[in-house]
Amino acid sequence: MDKTAYIALGSNLGCKRDNIARAIQLIAALPGVKIIKSSSLYETEPWGKTDQDNFLNQVIAVETSLQPAELLRELQNIEIKMGRQRKEKWGPRIIDLDILLYGNEVMDDPHLTIPHPHLRQRLFVLVPLAEIGADLQLPEDGATVEEVLSSVLVREGNRGIERI
Ligand code: ATP
Ligand code: CA
Ligand code: CA
Repeated sequence: MDKTAYIALGSNLGCKRDNIARAIQLIAALPGVKIIKSSSLYETEPWGKTDQDNFLNQVIAVETSLQPAELLRELQNIEIKMGRQRKEKWGPRIIDLDILLYGNEVMDDPHLTIPHPHLRQRLFVLVPLAEIGADLQLPEDGATVEEVLSSVLVREGNRGIERI
């Protein structure tokens, strides 16, 4: 049976808008993957390592027959095909493709942690995710995306993220 997975896209090098669009085309062309929802694009300030250009971020939902590890491998192949080079942690990148959620799966492998380890802290992920899945429940405790987003907004305010 196909599972629904949520994928975060990010780019802050080159033509960011084209990079995100190309990655979405390549994801749509993967066998066993069908895009069912897409958020708006957001311009966001860098997180973690702040001395770099703003990012464009988007979140999509897919239905997929691929297992989580297979989906990650395909996404990493797309990153490589698009010319991503891994240099410094959280540094500038042409494209970054992260699996946020995969059905109700909880996995704690450093090579593949699901839900994504920083999902609950990152507005640049929570805001677009809430746009397409506000009522989604996170598998660890059943909190909805909307609830988690609200608690971050109460703590930090709505800073550094703009819908474009
Ligand atoms: P972050 O994971 O904090 O967003 P990053 O995206 O910059 O940082 P990368 O260099 O792209 O980090 O990836 C580092 C490793 O993270 C990958 O090699 C991958 O195996 C692992 N990883 C663990 N969980 C996930 C996930 N849910 N989605 C994508 N990669 C993951
Ligand atoms: Ca990432
Ligand atoms: Ca990544």
